[in-house]
Amino acid sequence: METEKLYYADPFLTRFSAEVLSCAPAEGGGYWVELDRTAFYPEGGGQPWDTGVLNGVPVTNVQLRRGAVLHRTAAPLAPGETAEGEIDWPRRFDLMQQHSGEHIVSGLIHAAFGYDNVGFHLGAEVTTIDFSGPLSPEQAADIQRRANEAVWRDEAVKVFWPSPEELERLPFRSKKELTEAVRLVEFPGADLCACCGTHVARAGQAGPILLLSCQKFREGSRLELLCGRRALDYLAGVKEENDRVSVLLSAKVTDTAGAVERLLGELQRQKERAARLEGAWCALRARDCSEGGDALLFEEDLTPDGVRRLADAVLSVCAGRCVVLSGDDGAGYRYAAGWTGGDIRGLVRAMNAALRGRGGGKPGFCQGSLQASRGEIESFFRALPPEDWAPDKP
Ligand SMILES: [Zn+2]
Repeated sequence: METEKLYYADPFLTRFSAEVLSCAPAEGGGYWVELDRTAFYPEGGGQPWDTGVLNGVPVTNVQLRRGAVLHRTAAPLAPGETAEGEIDWPRRFDLMQQHSGEHIVSGLIHAAFGYDNVGFHLGAEVTTIDFSGPLSPEQAADIQRRANEAVWRDEAVKVFWPSPEELERLPFRSKKELTEAVRLVEFPGADLCACCGTHVARAGQAGPILLLSCQKFREGSRLELLCGRRALDYLAGVKEENDRVSVLLSAKVTDTAGAVERLLGELQRQKERAARLEGAWCALRARDCSEGGDALLFEEDLTPDGVRRLADAVLSVCAGRCVVLSGDDGAGYRYAAGWTGGDIRGLVRAMNAALRGRGGGKPGFCQGSLQASRGEIESFFRALPPEDWAPDKP
C-alpha cells in the first residue's frame, strides 16, 4: 500500500512513530520493512536514500516500490509492532543543502542561457551537474554570484502539486515527460522545477554556494558544486593551506601566488648558476686526469647529469678509458663510462655482470647504475688485466 510520506509533509522531521506493516528477508541479507508512514526518504530524483535507525536497528537502504517505502534493516521487526524511527539528520540536511543548491544553480543557468540540466550526480564529496551548452569561467563566476544572492534573499521555498491546467501555464524545468501528478519545487527568483526530493525550507539554508570547477564536457559543460557546510568546510581547508604557504614564504595571505612565482624565478636562477659552477668544476677536475691512462673517479652527490658532464669533461682531455661514479654504499652508484675512439661496451658488460649493474649505450659512451659498495667496485677494477684497465695513477 501507499506509505504516508512524512518527509514531504515536513522535510525537517527527524523522529517519528509508525506501525510495522510487513517484514521480509532481503536478497543478499537483511530485511525489507514496510511501515504505514515514514520520514525516511527513498532513493529518487538524484537524491540518495536516508540512513538512520528503526527501533535501534540500522537502516542501510530505502527504496520506493509502487508507492510503498521499503526500509532495509539489519534485523527483523515484527509486523504489528510500533517502530520508533530516527533518520541521520546531519547526513539528510547535507543532502538537502546540495540538492537545493543544485536547483538554484540549474534554474539560473536555464534562465540565463536556456541550457538544460542533462546529468546530476549528488556524490559523497561533490555534486556534479551537466548542462547542454558551454559556459565560460566568467559566466560560471556570474552564476555563482547570483546563486548566492538568491541565498541572501532567503525566500521561502514553495512546494506544490499544480492542477493539469495550472501546469500547462507554468514555465517549469523537467528532465522527463511527466505522467503522474507533478510536484513542483520553486525557489522564487531562481528556479521552478519538477522534483521528488527533499529541500530546505528557505533559500538561505542552502548557502553558501560554491562552484568548484566548470569544464567543457561533451557538447556542453560540467559543473562541480559544493553547498552549505560542504562549501564552508572546503573553503576553511583551502584557507588553512594558504595560511601555511603564507607563513612559509613570509608573504601576505593575499599575495601567496606572487610569492611562489618569485620563488620559482629564484629557483631557476639558482639551477642555472649551479649548472655553470658544475661545468667549471668538471673542467678543473678533468685537468687532474690528463696524463693519458685510464681514470676511475668517485664523486659524492653528483646529479645524474653531473655524472655525465664530468665523464664528458674527462674524456675531452684524456686519451684512455674513463669511469665516473657517484652515490653511496647503501643506495648504490650511478655511472658514466667512455672511451674516445674506442669501444667501452665490453668493460661495461663485465662491470654490470660482476657488480649487479644495469645500463649501456654507444661504443664511445655508456651510462647506468651498480648495486655494489665502493670497495667491491675498486676491487673489480684492480683485478682487471692491464690490457683492459691501465690507470695512470695506481
Ligand atoms: Zn530535484
